[in-house]
Amino acid sequence: MILHIDMDAFYTSVEQLDRPELKNRCIIVGGLSRRGVVSSANYAARKKGIHSAMPIAYAKKICPEGVFIAPRIKRYKEVSIVIMNILRRFSPLVEPVSIDEAFVDHSGCERLFGSPTQMSEMIKKTIFQETNLTCSVGGAPNKFLAKIASDLNKPDGLFIIHPENVSDFICFLPIHKVPGVGNKTSQKLHQIGIHTLGQVRNYPDSILYSHFGKFGKRLKELAYGIDPSRVSVSSERRSVSIESTLPQDTTDRERLKIQLRIQSENIGRQLRKSGFRAGTITLKIKHDDFTQITRSISIPVPTRTTASIYSQSVGLLNAYQDKRKIRLIGISLSGLIPCNTPMQLSLFADNPVSHPRWDKVDKVMDDITEKYGKEMVVRGIPSLTEANEES
Ligand SMILES: [Mg+2]
Repeated sequence: MILHIDMDAFYTSVEQLDRPELKNRCIIVGGLSRRGVVSSANYAARKKGIHSAMPIAYAKKICPEGVFIAPRIKRYKEVSIVIMNILRRFSPLVEPVSIDEAFVDHSGCERLFGSPTQMSEMIKKTIFQETNLTCSVGGAPNKFLAKIASDLNKPDGLFIIHPENVSDFICFLPIHKVPGVGNKTSQKLHQIGIHTLGQVRNYPDSILYSHFGKFGKRLKELAYGIDPSRVSVSSERRSVSIESTLPQDTTDRERLKIQLRIQSENIGRQLRKSGFRAGTITLKIKHDDFTQITRSISIPVPTRTTASIYSQSVGLLNAYQDKRKIRLIGISLSGLIPCNTPMQLSLFADNPVSHPRWDKVDKVMDDITEKYGKEMVVRGIPSLTEANEES
């Protein structure tokens, strides 16, 4: 059995934890600029109709009495580490999926912590005792059902799907509850008469594949309760990313490049701090019509310098010649390998932005920034403080 632990309204709960005077208030965490969006709303605010990704301006309109707070990601990460470490006391197989969610493998834990239900109760109790925060736990024979189960009795919930009940559970599971089925996909599924996951079983593979491609195959497997993915410890750090909603939608490439330089600096520092190099750099762009694209490049020698992250992301931007206005731009780094992995150093010399000299520049800049803050030293670029950094 696999357990999925999901903290309840995590960001807002941490805010209430740190500021007890906010008890019983509607709390909304999100970008506070004119164009910011809601990252997290507590249950009181959700009752007013507020949900994540809603424009903050609209949230203020429907909930004027709410307390609006800018995210403090650093603090949330601190609490997250405490929670993940609690989980590791129960099982060596803990896979954090996000800052406030993790899978825990129950196999082999029976003798120490009892049945999945008993262990879940113990996990909930320990997290509450040590952090004063509540979570919801779902248990099932596989990851995808465990994730669905943790959502069923939120907040402070516990729901276990026992192996003998899996088939019935799937029969009645509304299709939009399946991870990966968004609004568009669920509409398409409804059109062909599929409303529950169980109904997928009756559909010939060929039709599913022609409508949904690879995902059709996945749906068919899920309909039979097949999900071979294991709880994997190593996926703890898969990528780092940063993105900003621009103060105004723009087509101005120079402005976008300034944004990329600021982001390269911040994400580079994050990467170096966590002790990794990145092999893949991805540029993300959201247009003013909310369509989104990503473009990636994999580099032969993984990097950790700000200069090369910047030059690769600008290269991707230059190659993307779309005339529509851009609302949001971001960079993510993946293919992460620990810095102590041996590398072919001779390759560095060929590319000026990969020169080892940049490591020294980065080190000096990181030290100064760490000590005195972000504005103290910049790389000959105008600062663009009005941009709203969301992650
Ligand atoms: Mg959560």
